[in-house]
Amino acid sequence: MFKAGQLLTLSVHSLTDKGDGIAQHNGCPVYISGGLPGDEVEARVTLARPRYAQAEVKRVLTPASERRPDFCPHTECGGCQLRVMDYGAQLQLKRELLVNALQERGLNCSVANTIGMDDPFHYRNKAQFAVQPGPTLGFYAKHSHQLVEIEQCAMQAPETADITALVRQWMRELAVPAFNEAHHSGCVRYVMVRNGRHSGELMVVLVVAEEPTERALNALVERLAQVPKLVSVQLCLNDAVGNRILSEQVRTLWGSSVISDRLGELQFDISALSFYQINPHQTEVLYREVVRLAALSGSETVFDLYSGIGTISLFMAPFAAQVHGMEIVPEAVADAGRNAERNDIKNVRFYCGAAERQVAALYQQGVSADVVVVDPPRKGCDQALLDTLANMRPARLVYVSCNPKTLARDAAWLSEQGFTLEQVTPVDMFPHTMHVESVALFSAT
Ligand code: SAH
Repeated sequence: MFKAGQLLTLSVHSLTDKGDGIAQHNGCPVYISGGLPGDEVEARVTLARPRYAQAEVKRVLTPASERRPDFCPHTECGGCQLRVMDYGAQLQLKRELLVNALQERGLNCSVANTIGMDDPFHYRNKAQFAVQPGPTLGFYAKHSHQLVEIEQCAMQAPETADITALVRQWMRELAVPAFNEAHHSGCVRYVMVRNGRHSGELMVVLVVAEEPTERALNALVERLAQVPKLVSVQLCLNDAVGNRILSEQVRTLWGSSVISDRLGELQFDISALSFYQINPHQTEVLYREVVRLAALSGSETVFDLYSGIGTISLFMAPFAAQVHGMEIVPEAVADAGRNAERNDIKNVRFYCGAAERQVAALYQQGVSADVVVVDPPRKGCDQALLDTLANMRPARLVYVSCNPKTLARDAAWLSEQGFTLEQVTPVDMFPHTMHVESVALFSAT
C-alpha cells in the first residue's frame, strides 16, 4: 500500500505519454514527475492509490546518462516535460515512440531519424498565458489547474515577457479583475501573444469573460502601442464554461486584424483565430519534407486537407497543376484566400467545410486527386474521409501527424485497403515536450 508523503527509492525504467518516469514498487507502477529512464531517485508519493502511485523526484541518487541540468527556474511548470533530458536523447525518444506506435499496429516501415533544431530555444511564435486572481499570468503546473507565474519562458519570443508584464501592471493599476474559474466571475482569462519570426510583428489577444470598461481598454491599448513591432491588439469575449481559450467573438481594438510572417519564400497573414504552426523554423523543414515526398511533376491535381491558412497548399502550388485546400474554420479559409492573392498564386482554391464532406462532394462531381496531403488534428482523420480516399486511390498520400497513435491507427486501416506505408520522418516541432510530429508517405498499389 502507498501512503501520501511516503519516500521511496526507485529506479526509473521508462516514460509515460505525458513524460513522467515509470518505476515499479512491490509490483505496482509509480509515475514520477521529473524522473528519467536510467535515474535512480528518491521520490515522494503525491497521490496514493491501491494499485499505483504518483510521486515527484525529491533527490536524484544516480542520474541517467541523458540527464542534464534544468535550464528553467519554473520547476512546477508543466510545459516542458523533457527539459532535463539531453536534446539528442529527446530526438531518439520521439523516433522510438513513433516506431512503437506503428509496431503496435503491426506496421514495420522505415522510420528516419528525428530532424531536430540546432538551437531548440525561443522557437514558439504563440504564447497563451492563463490568468488567475493575483493577478497571476502563467502556465499550468503538471497535471493540474494550478497556475505557475511565468515571467520569462525559454520557449517563447523574448518580447512576450514585456507584454505580459505590461498586462499584469495594467490589471493592477486599473483594478481589472482576473477571471475566477471557481465562481465564474471576473474579467481577464487569457493573454495570447503571437509573433512573426521573420517580420517580428506582434499581436496581443486579450481574452475576457466580460467587457472591460472603455477607459480600461484605452489605457491598455495606449500601453501596448508603445511596444516596438506590436501591430495588432485584439479583444476576445469568451464567457463559456470550459477550457477553450478563444471564442469566435474577436474584434480589433487597435491596429491590424492580422500579423504577417514569411515561411520559405511565401508571405502569410495570420488572424487571431487561425491555426498557424507554432515553430516556424521547423515548419519550413516539415513542409519541405512534404513537398519532397509528394514528388510532384507539375501535372498533378493535389488535395491539401485540413489546410489551415493554406500554407501547405501554397508550398505545393508551384509544383502542381491545381491544388484544392479544405479547412473547417472560416477565418482560416479567408486568410488562405488572401494569402494566395498576396503571393500571386493562382492555381489554388480553398473550400470551407469538413474535409470528409468536401472531398466526398468533389469526388462525386468527378474531381479526384493524384496526390493528397492530410494534416489532421490529434484525433486523426475522420473515417468517412479515409473511405473516400480509399475509393479515390491517389498515387501518393502524404500524412502529416501530430499524434503517433492516430497516425498508426489510420496507417493500419490504409494498409488494409492496399496503400503501402513507404516511410515516416519525425520532425521535432516541440523541443523539450513529449509532442511527436511526423510526416508519412503512402503509395497506392
Ligand atoms: N495544414 C495546416 C493546418 C494543420 S492543423 C498547417 O500546416 O498549418 C489542423 C487544421 O485542421 C486546423 O486548421 C483545423 O481548424 C482543421 N480542421 C479540424 N477538423 C477539420 C475537418 N474535419 N475538416 C477540415 N479541417 C479541419
